[in-house]
Amino acid sequence: MALLGLDIGGTKRVLVIGERVGERDGDHTIRPLVRRRTAMRFSGDWRVDLASIVADAEVLVAEARAGGCGPLEAIGVAAPGPVDRGAGLLRNPPNLPGWRDVPLAQVLGEAFGIPVRIENDANAAALAEHRFGAGRGTEDMVYLTMSTGIGGGVVSGGRLVVGANGFAGELGHMPVVRGGLRCPCGLRGCLEAYVGGQAWAKRLRRRTPDSSRIHALAGGERAKIGSELLLAAAEEGDAFALAELARWLDFLALGIASIVMAFDPERIVLGTIAVAAGESLCFAPLRERVRALVWPGQSERLEIVPAALGAELPEQAALAVADAGSGFQANARPRA
Ligand SMILES: [Zn+2]
Repeated sequence: MALLGLDIGGTKRVLVIGERVGERDGDHTIRPLVRRRTAMRFSGDWRVDLASIVADAEVLVAEARAGGCGPLEAIGVAAPGPVDRGAGLLRNPPNLPGWRDVPLAQVLGEAFGIPVRIENDANAAALAEHRFGAGRGTEDMVYLTMSTGIGGGVVSGGRLVVGANGFAGELGHMPVVRGGLRCPCGLRGCLEAYVGGQAWAKRLRRRTPDSSRIHALAGGERAKIGSELLLAAAEEGDAFALAELARWLDFLALGIASIVMAFDPERIVLGTIAVAAGESLCFAPLRERVRALVWPGQSERLEIVPAALGAELPEQAALAVADAGSGFQANARPRA
């Protein structure tokens, strides 16, 4: 049986059809068969935008059928939160202009006549890393997206934790400083305000001295300064970059210590910026910091590792949501 995945983002959308491989034992993977990545264009009316997505999906389904693909079983959507899983609604994602209370499950369900599952993009990415990536084989895993912002997803006892109001896993908004820096979410002192890519870039643009290697790598253009150039300068041993990296690791370790206390995971999987920083700049010093903040019994078996899916993540995330065996379904009870 085949699955249709749709990843909706602020700048692009990915449609993919995949087929389960190695079924029966419950530990299958999904092999993507056909995909279509296009720019996301906003007309101001979600009905128009969604109709264009449905049209794209119909073309893709026809293409997959022509290639011998079996019938579609389910649709999975990964979209910027907040989502209402039970009602199949996309609420009011700030980076999708004109999209408000969009009945995604209803529209897609009517178009294709199969079940539709919806999940916010960070949870969907957590499911994908758990099912097909760096979290594979674990029962208790926490995933942190680490790009512009900090998103999270918690898999506990093999199931995605969604919470009473659907907001579980918002790990980027755990407070790490009382009355601290303003976060884009409106609160103060969130982890994201200290380790999120956007927040970090803003700080670095303001604070990087002209004498730092970061400044030279940016060709003197402060607008170019961000985590990438910081990591390059740290690699070269630049003192300012190393001090900034140490501060970033300190805050990240604080956040991870709270995650360890709350969930006692077997594995913590870190995305983009951590992946770019790698073992020596990020993972080795981070593990050491976390070890100092938790009990020995908690850190003994704890693995902190880079995400594995890379550029494949959006399509794998949407397919993981579509996949009934992902553990998502059991949590997605419709509201009474
Ligand atoms: Zn926040």
